[in-house]
Amino acid sequence: MKLCRFDDDRLGLVSGDTLREVTAALETLPALRWPLPRHDPLVAHLQALRPAIEAAARVGPALPLAGRSLHSPVASPGKIVAVRQNYAGGAIGPPDLFLKASSSLTGPGSGVILPPFGRPCSVEIELAAVVGATCRCISAAEAPRYVAGYCIALDLSLVGDEDRGLRKSADTFCVLGPWLTTADEVDPATGLHVELRVNGHVAQQGCSDDMRHGVAELVASASAWFTLQPGDVLLTGSPAGGTPLAAGDLLECRIDGLGSMSVQVQAGLNGLARGR
Ligand code: MN
Repeated sequence: MKLCRFDDDRLGLVSGDTLREVTAALETLPALRWPLPRHDPLVAHLQALRPAIEAAARVGPALPLAGRSLHSPVASPGKIVAVRQNYAGGAIGPPDLFLKASSSLTGPGSGVILPPFGRPCSVEIELAAVVGATCRCISAAEAPRYVAGYCIALDLSLVGDEDRGLRKSADTFCVLGPWLTTADEVDPATGLHVELRVNGHVAQQGCSDDMRHGVAELVASASAWFTLQPGDVLLTGSPAGGTPLAAGDLLECRIDGLGSMSVQVQAGLNGLARGR
């Protein structure tokens, strides 16, 4: 399945260049009460919802994908775990993990808004794995069964001396899209081409089987630090060549099997006092 969140938080099942609205399937999700869970409810119940999604897709009209505003397919991740480098040519050693604030998440439809510091920013394209079930201290051999699926991610950073997690956690500094491709449809270990173009020029490209630490190893590694919950996002690192970005840039991202997305970069607010 390729599941997207579009327009005013509707759920869509993507097929080719069309989608079928399947929002009705969400009605079977359990009602939430305080305290809220630390997971994304849709991802947590994805397997149980599959029949309802497929039934809704059979009766829903086919809508063109073009012109829809696509949001992050994971609406409410508990955490976003990322890894430094991780492609051939990068540092050798155990995975160098860090966290990005879950509030940094955005989708291709809203795009990137630069923070108000007037300092350079950079962008990297990464394959993102989405955790499908709660796990802790699992092995790499066990990890695949805990992955719900994959998306394209952009990992943005502000250049500076602050803590890495802070510099990578500004609003809109994690773009996720264009949809969640479930793990039964694609396997990064088979070698998926990863490519980022900035204003039409290739800025980064690589192949997912060049990862130093594969998805399963990264999930296992992260699970030693954190209980992983459904909807947690794991950015798997970037091919060489993170690239500077500026207001007005158009970021075109593509990963084999996961689709493509275009993301516009906009200037942010001019001063810290604004934006209330
Ligand atoms: Mn990165």
